[in-house]
Amino acid sequence: MKRPQILFYAFFTILAICLPSARAEGGMRAGAAEREITPPVGHQIQHYFRLSVGVNDPLFARCLYLEDAEKNSLVIVCLDLIFGGFELCDELRAEIRKQTGIENTLVNFSHSHSSASLGARGKTKISNDTDSKWNDATLNKILTIVKEAKKRAEPVSLRAGRAPAQVGFNRRLVNKDNGHVYMGVNRKGPIVPWVNVLCADSAKSGKPIAGLYETAAHPVIVPDRSKLTSADFPGAAAKRIHEALGKDVIALFAQGCGGNINGFPLRTTHANAEKQGRDLGSAVLKAIEKSEPIKAETFTVKYARAALPSHALPAKKLWQEMAHRERDREGRMEQLNKILALIDSGKEPPPRRMDVYAVMFAREWCLVTMPHEMFCQYELWVDKNAPFKRTMTFGYTNGYEGYIAVDAALGLGEKGGYEAACLPNWGGQVWTRHFGPPAVGCEKIIKDAISSLWPKKAASPKK
Ligand SMILES: [Zn+2]
Repeated sequence: MKRPQILFYAFFTILAICLPSARAEGGMRAGAAEREITPPVGHQIQHYFRLSVGVNDPLFARCLYLEDAEKNSLVIVCLDLIFGGFELCDELRAEIRKQTGIENTLVNFSHSHSSASLGARGKTKISNDTDSKWNDATLNKILTIVKEAKKRAEPVSLRAGRAPAQVGFNRRLVNKDNGHVYMGVNRKGPIVPWVNVLCADSAKSGKPIAGLYETAAHPVIVPDRSKLTSADFPGAAAKRIHEALGKDVIALFAQGCGGNINGFPLRTTHANAEKQGRDLGSAVLKAIEKSEPIKAETFTVKYARAALPSHALPAKKLWQEMAHRERDREGRMEQLNKILALIDSGKEPPPRRMDVYAVMFAREWCLVTMPHEMFCQYELWVDKNAPFKRTMTFGYTNGYEGYIAVDAALGLGEKGGYEAACLPNWGGQVWTRHFGPPAVGCEKIIKDAISSLWPKKAASPKK
């Protein structure tokens, strides 16, 4: 090899070593997108059921796509909708994987009670034609934004932060006379007193392209007598974020473990929802301001599935007493007869499916997701016990089958209140296909499933 040629190759070898490749420079890539998904006037608002006569503020589907230097991929889809079941989430996630090759999808529902639910394509029990068309159009829009976000993916740096925030209060109070839990404002009960933020900044412009934020509270500040569709407080939070960071930033709200927390003041006015949302948006901006970079250039997504056993069926004697007492109430008798069929067949009520995920960036940041309406104690437990510098936790993700209380609440039996009571109290969970809440002991199953995803605590944290 001639001397100039050697110099030529040496020059390029040194250049290759010194100049970081595009990948090494921007190991993490992200893209985000959104579409409005407001149902047409006349659709059925859930929950409570009422037909919409207009729109107070629009609903959105938003997504954040992440891809690391090792081509791990994840898309987080955040919907301004009340909930979606396992059938829908399984189908949607499979469709996203098939059409885009994205390995992991997390679908979070904001749980706004002035929105609508989403069902699986063509299999929804929606009687109304308009709602059914909206349902399938929404599924198409979700696929569109995921494709768009992937296409837009660019080198980013990520940062995570937290700021104090309180949208609501614990909603479980104990009646001192009879020990029964009832719904109210429990100012001393546990809540999640913060908002967690993950921000993706464009490596090119240095400006944020997306901010994902999570807090835990039922979006129920909009009154249930309002027939206007609304995202409730998360809608106003997004507006506040846009005012400060610009309209192009995708502001994704994810609902945390808000099963036992109600937005405050409960079911009052759209103006109150607006105010609480704006305050939450301001807290998000503070959290972004205080956020710190995530240095890890790769991430891991892990998943585990557990089954949560349901509360045992009532003894035959209790069933007979109840059948006598409820004999004139058609709905209750229908449910009691289903229970009797199960008692007579010697079968147990079905368990609840518990799919948990962890998205982990070295030991710096971990997102834990759970389905269902989880009590806030689970989020507090994750934050305290996860072997990571920072955490973010979602409930209402990738499936839904009602409330999951902690053992202390489930142990109250019939006195457990709307979210946790069993027969002879007609709490919300007795009306499900499980005929009651989960059994005492489910708390350990959930915690074991989540901690099985984490690295062992003893290992030294990665840099
Ligand atoms: Zn709820």
